[in-house]
Amino acid sequence: MKLNDAQSRAMFTRAARVLPRGVSSNFRYWGDEETLVAARAKGAYLWDLDGNRYIDYRLAFGPIILGHAHEQVDASVRLAMENGVSFAMTNPYEVQVAEKITKLCPGIEMLRFTSSGTEATMHALRTARAFTGREKVLKFEGHYHGMHDYVLWSTYVGPENLGARINPIPVAASSGIPRAIRELIIMLPFNDRDLLERTLKQTWFDVAAIIVEPIMGNTASIEPQDEFLKFIRARCDEYGIVMIMDEVKTGFRVAKGGAQELFGVTADLATYAKALGNGYPVAAFGGRREIMDVIGKGVSHAGTYSGNVVGMAAADAVLDILNKTDALQVVAARGRALQKGIGDVLEAADLPYVIAGHPSMFGIMFSGSTPREYRDWVKSDQKLYESIMTNMIRRGVMPDPDSREPWFISAAHSEADVAETLNAFEQAVKEAKQAH
Ligand code: PMP
Repeated sequence: MKLNDAQSRAMFTRAARVLPRGVSSNFRYWGDEETLVAARAKGAYLWDLDGNRYIDYRLAFGPIILGHAHEQVDASVRLAMENGVSFAMTNPYEVQVAEKITKLCPGIEMLRFTSSGTEATMHALRTARAFTGREKVLKFEGHYHGMHDYVLWSTYVGPENLGARINPIPVAASSGIPRAIRELIIMLPFNDRDLLERTLKQTWFDVAAIIVEPIMGNTASIEPQDEFLKFIRARCDEYGIVMIMDEVKTGFRVAKGGAQELFGVTADLATYAKALGNGYPVAAFGGRREIMDVIGKGVSHAGTYSGNVVGMAAADAVLDILNKTDALQVVAARGRALQKGIGDVLEAADLPYVIAGHPSMFGIMFSGSTPREYRDWVKSDQKLYESIMTNMIRRGVMPDPDSREPWFISAAHSEADVAETLNAFEQAVKEAKQAH
C-alpha cells in the first residue's frame, strides 16, 4: 500500500542514492513507495515531509518515553553542551547519572556507559565471559539484543528454518556473520522450563551467560510465564551462570526500575538504552559490583562517546522527571485505555486476538491462544495486522506495521489521542475485514 506522498518520495529517491535502501538502519525501510521521511516531531505527534501528522506509537522504536522534543530534557542538553561535550575524561554528569541509576534500578551497583544498546549487550557479554571463564551464550528465539555478531541469531526466522522445537537451529540473521560464532550460541524457545533445565544439565560448564529480554519487546511483547524469569535466576545461581537482563526496551519504561522491579527478579547484569535518553543517544550496562569490577583489570571496555555530555545531560533530566512526576503512571493509564478499547473493537469484530505485554509497550497478535514464544507469533496472522496498521497510518495514527514491534506509549499521549486512535482502529478493522 503506497504511503509516501510527493515530498517524502522525492527525498527518499535522493536518499536511496547515498544511503543503501535510503535509510540508516534496515528496520526503517518499508519499501520504495512506503518509506516515509520525517520532518519533525513534538509531544505525541510526528509530521512527515508532506505535512501529514501522525499520532506516533513507534516513538523511534521505544526511546521517547516523555514525548518528542521534551522541553526540560532539551533545555538540560542545551545548557550542558555550551561547556563542551566530549573530553576523554570523566565528567561530573556521568557520576551524577550513574548514581541516580544505581538508586533507581535493582541490582545495579556499578555501571559503564555506552552509546547504543548494541554496545551495551556486547560489553555485558564480554564481561560475563571474562568473569566466568566460559564462552557460550544461551539466548532465546525472537529475542533481539542488537546488531553485533554474537547475538544476531534467530531474531527473525521463517517457520521452515527454525528446526525442531526441542533442538532449535540457531539461524544467523545476516550474511557476513562468521559461521564459527554459531558454536558459541545455544538457542532455546522462551518460557520452557523443562527444555532450559535439560539443556543446562548437559552444557552448564560451557555457559557464561543467559541473555534475556524480560518482555519480548521485539516479538509483540510476549510476556514471561509461570515465573520463567525467576526460574532463569535460580538456574543461573545453581550453575554459576551470569544472568543478563536486556532492559533496552523495558528500562525506565515498564517501571522506574525497569523489568527487574516489575517482576521482582534481579539479574547479575542488565543493559539499558532507549528511554534513558528520551531519544538522545545514551546506553549503559551494569550490575553486581563483583562482576563489573573485572572491567579495567584485564577486561576491556572503551568508547570515544561513552558518557558524553549530551547523552548524560538528557539522561539526567529524564531520570529527574521519572523520579519526581507521575509520568510512568500516565504512560500506563493511556496504554491500558488503548488495550481496553482495542480489545472492545476486536471483540465486536469477532476476530481472535491476543494483547500481550505491559501497557507502556504492548503487542497485538491475531491468534487464538496466548503466545508463549516466537514460534507462536509466527503462527499469528501478520498480514491482517499489517493491513490494519497500514490503513491506520493513512488515517494519521502510526503503530509499526510489523506486528513484532510493540505499540509504545509516551507521557505526551493524551486521552483525546487515545480516542482518535481507537476511532481510526475501528475504521481500519472494518475495512480490513471486508477486504480479507
Ligand atoms: N536490545 C534490545 C532489547 C533492543 O530492543 C534493541 C534495539 N531495538 C537493542 C538491544 C539494540 O539497541 P541499539 O539499537 O541502540 O543498538
